Amino acid sequence: MLQSLEIELTSNKKQQPAADQLGFGNHFTDHMFIMDYSTDNGWHKPRIQPYQPIVLDPAAKVFHYGQTIFEGLKAYKTDDGRVLLFRPHKNIQRMNRSNERLSVPELNVDVVIEALKQLISVDKDWIPTAPSTSLYIRPFIIATQPQLGVAPSTHYQFIIIMSPVGAYYTEGVNPVKIFVESEYVRSVKGGVGEAKTAGNYAAGLKAQEIAKEKGYSQVLWLDGVHRKYIEEVGSMNVFFKLKGVVHTPALNGSILDGVTRNSIIQLLKHWNIEVIERPITIEELYKASQNGELEEAFGTGTAAVISPIGELNWQDDVLIINDGKTGELSKKLYDTLTGIQMGKLEDPLGWMV
Ligand code: PMP
Repeated sequence: MLQSLEIELTSNKKQQPAADQLGFGNHFTDHMFIMDYSTDNGWHKPRIQPYQPIVLDPAAKVFHYGQTIFEGLKAYKTDDGRVLLFRPHKNIQRMNRSNERLSVPELNVDVVIEALKQLISVDKDWIPTAPSTSLYIRPFIIATQPQLGVAPSTHYQFIIIMSPVGAYYTEGVNPVKIFVESEYVRSVKGGVGEAKTAGNYAAGLKAQEIAKEKGYSQVLWLDGVHRKYIEEVGSMNVFFKLKGVVHTPALNGSILDGVTRNSIIQLLKHWNIEVIERPITIEELYKASQNGELEEAFGTGTAAVISPIGELNWQDDVLIINDGKTGELSKKLYDTLTGIQMGKLEDPLGWMV
């Protein structure tokens, strides 16, 4: 599929950061993958080249109309030296759903998987092995046609860059404090909340900034129409354990269909723990907390995997969840999922590639 892949290796390898200096998304590997698109030629000219700046015309549509989509997934190196990807097809399929929504041309899933494997193989020395570290992979597409008209671009670039990463939150798997956002919204049904596109994240910065000023790590997003249904937490999906049963907001068009969310639901079902996808209001959660029925809350996403919520501030009422400690289920889910990802535990649902 990628017969025409050209590989240009760098003659100037970078110094790799120490495991305790990684942080998240600060360092990039030696190489990148690029492929071009034009209406006339489709996707063409796949290549791996030294990591370097890209040159774009200032009129490129991505700068003006935000026609761009991205993905995020991870590769892991096992103790016996194998390299594993976690459910990569899910990410590439979601990428195509984002493409569809943003009028970006579809990618061939097999070509992208092959490109990922080739790029990782070239930079495999960059996959960190210390606990809680991995190689974060960021595929993205930008509209490059230099033309100031609001219309789908005729030209695109598909690029993959990779970053060795440590923990996403400095808190690690420890609970974070979350501010329930009642004024700003992330997305609405019919909008682009279900797509992984830059504008969603730009739209969320303001609320995130205000929450930070108040001493909170992230915001809990409510729906854009009624401002009462819980949607997501920061850029993670969200789960609540209420009286032994796990609940998560049902996908509704404005929530991102997280790969981790899907995996947690499957894992819970595999363990015979009841999990319900349904609309959940903030008021209901508040009452459950007051009645002592809210046992655990956590966010899920590729970057942090599981991020327990220790405190929720809703209109200055502060709910403390599980005494602000990491819950038993959150911990078990984190240990199991990261164990499967690192190749340390059996992979009962056949996720690793
Ligand atoms: N919601 C949003 C808005 C996100 O950006 C992400 C990260 N991709 C998630 C949820 C979690 O998705 P995933 O589990 O696929 O990383």
